Amino acid sequence: MQIVDVNGKTLSNVVKDNNGQLTPTFNKLHFEIPKKHELILNQYQDILEIFQPVVLGDVVGWVRIVYSLDAIKHEEAAIWTSNLTSGFIIIIITIAILIVILRKPVVSIEKYTDFAEKLTQFTGAQTKVDRRSIELFRLGSALNRASLNLYSQHGRLKTILRDMERIAAIAEHSPDIILSVNIDGSIEYLNTTAKNTIKELFESDEPSDILKLMPDSWHKILKRCLTKDASMANIESFLCGNAYLWKFTPLKQHNAVHCHATNITEKKLAENQLTYQANYDLLTDLPNRLLALDRLKQSIKRSRRLKSHTGVLFLGVERLNTVTDTLGHRAGDKIIKEIAVRLTGCIREGDTLARFGGGVFLIILNDLRSALDSKVVAEKTMNTMSEEFIVDNRGFRLGLSIGISSCPDDESDTDKLIRNADIAMQKARENGGNTYQFFDSKFNEQALIKVEMESELRHALDKNEFFLTFQPQIDIVNNKLIGAEALIRWINPKLGFVPPDRFIAVAEDTGLIIPIGEWVLRTACCEAKKWQETLGMPLRVAVNVSARQFIGHDFPATVRRILEETDLSAKNLELEITESLLVEDAQGVVSAINQLKEIGVTLALDDFGTGYSSLSYLKRFPFDILKIDRAFVKDVIENPEDASLCKAIVAIATSLNLMVIGEGVETQEQLEYLRFIGTNIAQGYLYSKPLEVTAFIEYVETHFSIEAVQL
Ligand code: C2E
Ligand code: CA
Ligand code: CA
Repeated sequence: MQIVDVNGKTLSNVVKDNNGQLTPTFNKLHFEIPKKHELILNQYQDILEIFQPVVLGDVVGWVRIVYSLDAIKHEEAAIWTSNLTSGFIIIIITIAILIVILRKPVVSIEKYTDFAEKLTQFTGAQTKVDRRSIELFRLGSALNRASLNLYSQHGRLKTILRDMERIAAIAEHSPDIILSVNIDGSIEYLNTTAKNTIKELFESDEPSDILKLMPDSWHKILKRCLTKDASMANIESFLCGNAYLWKFTPLKQHNAVHCHATNITEKKLAENQLTYQANYDLLTDLPNRLLALDRLKQSIKRSRRLKSHTGVLFLGVERLNTVTDTLGHRAGDKIIKEIAVRLTGCIREGDTLARFGGGVFLIILNDLRSALDSKVVAEKTMNTMSEEFIVDNRGFRLGLSIGISSCPDDESDTDKLIRNADIAMQKARENGGNTYQFFDSKFNEQALIKVEMESELRHALDKNEFFLTFQPQIDIVNNKLIGAEALIRWINPKLGFVPPDRFIAVAEDTGLIIPIGEWVLRTACCEAKKWQETLGMPLRVAVNVSARQFIGHDFPATVRRILEETDLSAKNLELEITESLLVEDAQGVVSAINQLKEIGVTLALDDFGTGYSSLSYLKRFPFDILKIDRAFVKDVIENPEDASLCKAIVAIATSLNLMVIGEGVETQEQLEYLRFIGTNIAQGYLYSKPLEVTAFIEYVETHFSIEAVQL
C-alpha cells in the first residue's frame, strides 16, 4: 500500500509479508496518477490496483493499494474452504437438530398409526396423547374418541345383529306361516312352516302355492297395504278344512309385504263347539234359551212387519223329576230325548222348539193369523205327550202343562213374553196340570205373590207361622170315629192365610217340604199321643206325605225316629201318599214303602183316580187304604159316570182287601151312596171341616163319646 501526493511522490509504502505483517518497502513502483478524483479500480493480469483519493477540502493525494490477485484468490479459496466447512458443519448440526426435533413426532405418529390399525378390534382402548404439539394432541384425542365411538357403535351393532339373527331364527322356526311377497306376487321369503304347509296340503315344493292359502283378495290387500303404508290384520282364510288368521305388514322400501298367518283351525273348531254349546242343548240338540231368545226376537220383528202374531208356548213336563229321581238320570235323559222328538213332530218347519233345561221346553210359533192359533199346537203336544213313554221296556206316563203368550197381544218384549208364558204354565199347573192356559194380565200379580210366598216360606217354620187342623174320618158302617187327617195351615203376616194347595207346591219346588213335612209329622204324632191321654181314645192320625220327602231321604228312618220321640204307636199313624209317587219299579220308593209297612204304620193311597193309577200299582205296593178323591165324590149323585167310577174303585179295593175312604163328603146323599157301594170310611164337611186341635177335641167329645173305634 502506497500513499502519494498529487504529484505522484511516494509518501509511504508498505507491503504485507508472508506472515501477513506490514513492512515498509523502498522499491520504486511505476504508476500513473489518476486524473479523476474518485475511487478507481484497475485490474491487470494478476494485480488489482485501487486508487482512493485523499480529500482534505481538495484532493491532496492518493492511497494506492495493490493486491496480488493470486493472494486474493488464495485467500478467497481459504475463505471458501472455511465457509464450506462451517456451512457443512452447520448443515450437519441442523440435520442433527432436525432429526432430534422431528424424531419425536415421527415416533408419536408411528404409535398413532399402530393404534389406528388396532381400532378395528373395537376394544375401546385409549392411546397416550402426545401433548408436545397441538396437532399431535388433537390427533391423539381424535383417535381416542374414535376408539370409544367405534367400541360403542360396534357393541350396538353386535346387539342389533344378535337381535336380527334371533328374529330371523324366530321367523324361520315360527309355528306360524311367515312369508314376504313382492307386490307382483313373487315370493321373496318363506319360513319352514310355510314350506311344510305347502308340502302337506299340496304335496309340492312350489313357493307360490302358499298364495292359495291367502285370503281370496290377497293382491288387493297387498296393494292397499303398500299404498296406505299400514298393516292389515285379522283377515281370515279357509282352505282344505283349515282356517288361517292373517296379518299383512308393508315393507315399503322393498315394495313388498310381510305376511303372517296363524293356523286357527283348532281354535275355530273350539269356537264353533263353544258357539254350539252356548246355543244348543247338548242332550236333545235343540236350541237352548239363548238361541230361543234370539229366534223369538226375529219372530217378533217379522210379525211386526207382516202384521202377524207370534205364539210362545212354555211347556212344563210333569212328573219327570220323579222318574229321574227314582230311575236315575240315564232313564230321565232317554225320556227327555223322546219328548224332544215327539214335540218336534208337533211344529212346522220354521217354528222353534227349544229346551230350557229339565222338563221345560219352549215353542215359538211364527206367522200366526191370531193368538188363538197356538191352541192347535198346544193340543197336539198334549196329545203326543199323553202317550206312554217306554224306557228300558217299562212304560211311563207323564203330564204336560202349557202356558201360552203371544205377541203383540200380551207383550212385544222377548223376556216378558217368555215370562208371561211361564206364568200361564204355572197357572195351568195350579189348575191341576196336564192342560194349557193362555196368559192373562192378572196372572202377573199372582206370580209376584208367588215369588213373595217363596221368600216368606223360608222363615215360616222359624216364626211358628204353621199350625195343623184335623178333619175327622168316620167309620160309616159302625158310625164310629177312626181318627183324623192332619192338614197344614199357614198364616203369614204379609200374605195372610195361604191355602196348602198353593204353598205346598212351592215348598216342594224349593225343597222346603223336607223340614215342613217333618214338622207336620212330629206335630201330628204329638197331638195324636195327647188325644189318647185327653180323650182316652187311641185315635189314628193321617199325615200327607209329598213325593219329595220320599226321594233322596231316608224317610222311614225319620218316621221311626219321630214315633220314638213322640211315643206314638205305629198303628196310630197313617201316611197318605199320592199316586204320582208310585212310578213303576222305583226302587227307592218300593223299599221305603216296604220299610214303612214293617214299621207298622197304615199306608193310604191318596187322590186315587186323578192321576195314572193302575191296578198294578195297587198290587205292587202294600197299601191298607185307598182314598177316593173328592173330585169324584163331588158329583157322585149328579154324574152317573163318577158314580160308576166310585163303584168300580170300591170293587177293586175290596178285591184287593183294601179299606176305602170317601173324601169330600158334603151331603147325606153322597154319604148314603158311598155307604151303599161299600165304602168303609168317610171324611168331609158333612161331618166336619178341618178343625184346630182344641176344636177337634171338642168335636170328638161332643159327637163320639169315649169309645175308640179300631180299624
Ligand atoms: P188332600 O190330601 O186331598 O186333602 C183334602 C183336602 O180336601 C183338604 O184341603 C180339605 O180341607 C179338603 N176337604 C175336606 N173335606 C172337604 C169337603 O167336604 N169339601 C171340600 N170342597 N173340600 C174338602 P186342604 O186342607 O186345603 O188341603 C189341600 C191339599 O193340600 C191336600 O189335599 C193335600 O194334598 C195338601 N196338604 C194339606 N196338608 C198337607 C201336609 O201337611 N203335607 C202335604 N204334603 N200336603 C198337605
Ligand atoms: Ca190327603
Ligand atoms: Ca185327596
